Amino acid sequence: MAEYVKTIKLHIHTDDAGRLLFKEMTDCYADACNYISKYVFDNGFILNFMKLQEKLYSDIRDSFGLKSQFTISALKTVTARYKTVKEQLFQHPYKYQDESGKWCYITKTLEWITKPVVFKRPQADLVRNRDYSFVNDSNTISVNTLKKRVKVTFDKPECFDHYFDGTWSFGTAKLVCLNNEWYLHIPATKEYDDTFSKDKPSHVVGIDRGLRFLMTTYDEKGNTGFYSGKEILKKRTSFLKVRAELQSKGTKSAKRKLKAISGRENRWMTDVNHRLSKTLVKRYGRNTLFVIEDLTDVSFDDKNLNTWNKAQNCELRSWAFYQLEQFLSYKVKETDSFVLKVDASYTSQRCPKCGRIHKLNRHHDIHEYICDACGYHSNDDRIGAMNLYELGTMYVSGDTNPRFGSRKID
Ligand SMILES: [Zn+2]
Repeated sequence: MAEYVKTIKLHIHTDDAGRLLFKEMTDCYADACNYISKYVFDNGFILNFMKLQEKLYSDIRDSFGLKSQFTISALKTVTARYKTVKEQLFQHPYKYQDESGKWCYITKTLEWITKPVVFKRPQADLVRNRDYSFVNDSNTISVNTLKKRVKVTFDKPECFDHYFDGTWSFGTAKLVCLNNEWYLHIPATKEYDDTFSKDKPSHVVGIDRGLRFLMTTYDEKGNTGFYSGKEILKKRTSFLKVRAELQSKGTKSAKRKLKAISGRENRWMTDVNHRLSKTLVKRYGRNTLFVIEDLTDVSFDDKNLNTWNKAQNCELRSWAFYQLEQFLSYKVKETDSFVLKVDASYTSQRCPKCGRIHKLNRHHDIHEYICDACGYHSNDDRIGAMNLYELGTMYVSGDTNPRFGSRKID
């Protein structure tokens, strides 16, 4: 059995009185977290929960008026955050060159930070069925505050329906405020059987992600699927135009509008990604191996956009591509399928027929790949999908880390 965890973000609604109670609770909670954080910082980074609880529990209850459960949650929130920071520091060692020019690394520890971690955003952690609970199948949640329980309603877009089908369990939620709107971030967990059989997948599908085509797919029967990005590019360009106008204004109301637009844009892209991943999973059914490029450390080049748009687009696309990957990775679990991430090196430069790797064979201007060795030519997005498919077949035949070109040995 394996587990899949996803955070669902519910937009919740309540009246002024409810919002006031939320504000009071989250401010108080953040203050308590900052108090604990300072203590942790000043006392040699005690991250042992029991020890910290022993030292601070009654203190916090007295000074901040938090209930027992909230006090414990605040302690947990702070220790968890420091553990994350510790991990991040460990992963990014201090790097310098010594006199001979050799690169040296020093592992960073928490002692490297110069001030306590700050909890700026109003927030509170709510334990399921104690601090918050769903009210019988309706769109209503009952939320505990410092004074009394508050009933809230929440938006339930269609793409959230499956979270409420009884197969997911919900964990400790975070109540947060963004632009005067309240949200509950709830981690949802689902267990599934990990039964994808790698040796005999029923389909192998390469998926190339791009701008002109959001996805180009290629499978073992030689079928190519193009999922146009035209509509998205068009919508995106109009978003960018409005955005530029608002940005140049720079007024408070322009900034507010800007935020609203980004939100709308994100929701819309999310919807597109849901549809795309659903389409693929439906189309190929059980035990399919989907192959996508690993986007970590990949930069996108865009010939058709100016520099200003480029930066914006890059940001959106890396986010949108990552989201598509997330959705697909989750959805395939219901069909015992699998998403394989592979090194994307040379997937746009390699001839899928004769295997020659040559950068100049890709003609960006006409979106064609033309092999100078064997003469094979095809749409360049399709070439990417074909090569990803090829890496998938290498994986099926036993190569656990398939890639083209020379292998680096470190
Ligand atoms: Zn060739």
